[in-house]
Amino acid sequence: MRGTDHRLVTRFQRRLLAWYGKHGRDLPWRRTRHPYRILVSEIMLQQTQVDRVIPKYREFLRRYPTLRRLAAADVSEVRQVWYPLGYNARPVRLHAIARETLARYGGRLPDDRGALRRLPGIGRYTASAMLSFAFGRDAALIDTNVRRVLGRVFLGPRRAKRMRGENAWWQLAETLVPAGRAYDFNQALMDFGATWCTPRRPRCPSCPMKPICATYPALAPASRPSRRARERTGWPRSATALPGASAHPTGASAHPTGASAHPPGALRARGAWGGIDSPPMI
Ligand code: SF4
Repeated sequence: MRGTDHRLVTRFQRRLLAWYGKHGRDLPWRRTRHPYRILVSEIMLQQTQVDRVIPKYREFLRRYPTLRRLAAADVSEVRQVWYPLGYNARPVRLHAIARETLARYGGRLPDDRGALRRLPGIGRYTASAMLSFAFGRDAALIDTNVRRVLGRVFLGPRRAKRMRGENAWWQLAETLVPAGRAYDFNQALMDFGATWCTPRRPRCPSCPMKPICATYPALAPASRPSRRARERTGWPRSATALPGASAHPTGASAHPTGASAHPPGALRARGAWGGIDSPPMI
């Protein structure tokens, strides 16, 4: 796989981090490393656009500035404060996490993957996000945006389509995280996918990944090979054939908020907490 080519990986890391230095978004949860605050942001961002989350994130933390305060609150009040973000199971689960953390860990969220995943409704994505964003670990992340970017840069249309199984995407992501830089790298990947290498309108002409992107040749008319060569190499016939592009005729996803309703690894049923581990919409 191209993703394991060391030079390519290094070039990708450098280009992405340089891009993030110029274009990364200033989001309130990027101004803290506090595990409780990171957890609140991660749960709020599931299935919800970042613009809607920002004011509610601030309001929620004014009301419940600490995990203890949240654990002490009545769950029906927490649901009211959460309104109108939607997906109302989330405040209930967050409240349950706060209570369990208090009961089992003295109010400190654990920094261990296994312990995190034993908390109500925390799955692979959210555990990795906590490890990376709150605890400074070199944990990889896969969400819808990250998967699209990795598919385009490292695989190209045909191979991305053939990539089977969630584990393969996680393994690819794990080969890419630069030691000691997982926080910036993961935030950069998510921003890059959300704002630059978007599903239908990737900004290829000015993209720093152009020289290394396996999908870019398919998007550059001047460099399109003959039809025969295209068929042989599996170049896409249209934008919808791009790895990660929506097949919806309007370019919209089926989800009302614009997110895939079932991003990879998301919405796994986990007993009573099924659905909490959706990657965020940033
Ligand atoms: S060149 Fe285009 S497809 Fe490739 S990473 Fe950049 S924006 Fe995405």
